[in-house]
Amino acid sequence: MQKLVYIALGTVLMTVSCNKQITSTKEVDAKDSQTFADLDKAKIKHLSLDIETDFKTHQIKGSAAYTFTNNKAKELILDTEKLTIDSVLLANGQKTTFHLGEKDSIKGQALVIDVSPKDTIVKVFYKTSPDANALQWLDPQQTHDKKQPFLLTQGQAILTRSWIPIQDTPSIRVTYDAKVKTPKDLMVLMSAINPKEKSADGIYTFKMPQAIAPYLIALAVGDVQYQPIDNRTGVYAEPGLLKAAAWEFADMGKMVTAAEKLYGKYPWEQFDVLVLPPSFPFGGMENPRLTFATPTAIVGDRSMTNLIAHELAHSWSGNLVTNSTWDDFWVNEGFTVYFERRIMEELEGKDYADMISVIGFQDLETSMRNIPEKYTSLKVDMKGANPDDAFSDVPYDKGYLFLKMLEDKYGREKFDAFLNKYFSSHAFQTITTEKFVDYLKENLTNGDDSFVKEWIYTTGWPKDFKKPTSKLFDLAEAQLKQDITNGRNKVAPKKVAISTKSTNEWVHFIRQIDPSKNTKEDLAYLDSIYDFTNSKNPEIECAWFEKAFLMQYDKVNANAKDFMVNVGRRKFLEPLYLALKETNQLDLAKDIYKSARPNYHFVARQTIDTMINYKP
Ligand SMILES: [Zn+2]
Repeated sequence: MQKLVYIALGTVLMTVSCNKQITSTKEVDAKDSQTFADLDKAKIKHLSLDIETDFKTHQIKGSAAYTFTNNKAKELILDTEKLTIDSVLLANGQKTTFHLGEKDSIKGQALVIDVSPKDTIVKVFYKTSPDANALQWLDPQQTHDKKQPFLLTQGQAILTRSWIPIQDTPSIRVTYDAKVKTPKDLMVLMSAINPKEKSADGIYTFKMPQAIAPYLIALAVGDVQYQPIDNRTGVYAEPGLLKAAAWEFADMGKMVTAAEKLYGKYPWEQFDVLVLPPSFPFGGMENPRLTFATPTAIVGDRSMTNLIAHELAHSWSGNLVTNSTWDDFWVNEGFTVYFERRIMEELEGKDYADMISVIGFQDLETSMRNIPEKYTSLKVDMKGANPDDAFSDVPYDKGYLFLKMLEDKYGREKFDAFLNKYFSSHAFQTITTEKFVDYLKENLTNGDDSFVKEWIYTTGWPKDFKKPTSKLFDLAEAQLKQDITNGRNKVAPKKVAISTKSTNEWVHFIRQIDPSKNTKEDLAYLDSIYDFTNSKNPEIECAWFEKAFLMQYDKVNANAKDFMVNVGRRKFLEPLYLALKETNQLDLAKDIYKSARPNYHFVARQTIDTMINYKP
């Protein structure tokens, strides 16, 4: 998953503190505390869905059949959340008894199905709740073209159980097939072999021949069309967005080839991207064969395509070799960030990779300051907690720094050979942190494990990390300094278009504006040169509007309101509403929010409701 939350930084990067505390160096129990399932007794191997989407009641209804291995089990235990279970059948068509366990505020409810030790197939008839956590039912107004409704699922981390009764743990892998019925004007897509055109009758069938963790089972329904990029990559989007999306992501084919050159053959045959409506609250999600992506990555200069590289990298780290439990989440994300930057270095060169490394490091510094200390180690213990509570930049960018340290220490060539072998020898398997450490000691570090305590189990900053730097960002900072000096010396501003630098450089340039040192006049001068207020690039808009709010440069207010009403990506909304709140402009925040709120997804609503104390 692309990082969800971004809290913009001030000007000065803080000197890093060395706050350390050993949590544990012992092997932590590899059993996933987030599931009710007893995998030693019964483990699902294949899922067969037959469902219908009801856009009127916001419900999915139908059946899920399971093939499972049975080790003298008398019960098959599945995870559910807010599901209504109508009946359960055995392979012979006979009904069997079942019950739902006590409700747990994080895990939901166990569905306990009575089986005999001979049973290996059951079928559950069920329906979802209109407020199922995994499901996002968008009104036409919340889409790009504003003509048809849209439905999408988000399974990670433990949300799949709210739309399919399942053993909802990355400790298992399933293949699946599905039949989905939907209103005729809409296309159905899944993390499976997908159609290229709408069906005449609204009925679609799917096959996912490769085994995946249940959090990667995904569904999207909407008025979308397909445009191929080459024979194994392409883009799905609403008709009004398709052309721009296909142009922006035109290098996807090259990206897959670059990734294969690094770490082996792409294991999922097809790599397509589904561009979601602007109210999608996240950046991207690596659903196999069909990455879900925000339309805000379409900035018109192909400079934010590292988001796609990130989701592509997950085809190896995460989807092919999967964290056993959410305590090992860094094994998914740290490797993916490292791999993403290597792909971008291949495609765009080292300067580009350096820029995104610096941005990642800035995000990590923010996380390290703001999240509970116990979640600042790579391996965490989330027993009794919701995986979302531990979510931060730590598994991403501290994980990256760890792998970068290994690369520097053992040399790129050796490290690449190690990673290649790691992916191929663990393909379609799950892995714990402890198993990875053993593999690392055997295959790269010659038994040396001095890094383990320091990097994996200790909170805070390790002592031997290397802080990333960027030549292009240094130039952007010098440029800002020069411009501010010119403005103050009344040098006449020379209007220029801002196309000569990439999005990342401009975002960095704007982020360096310091509300405690710079003035509204400085902003006006910069605006007269670069016209940031009228930018149509979401990354630049967000960075600029945030500074403008903090410094009460009112010229942006109308455009900022338009932006905040139309875009629902939480990474952009959070810093903007926060800036208004911190500068006592809650009236303006609430005025914007009143118009914007109907366009936001409920996770974004929840965040902003709380932040600005809004009562609908
Ligand atoms: Zn990710």
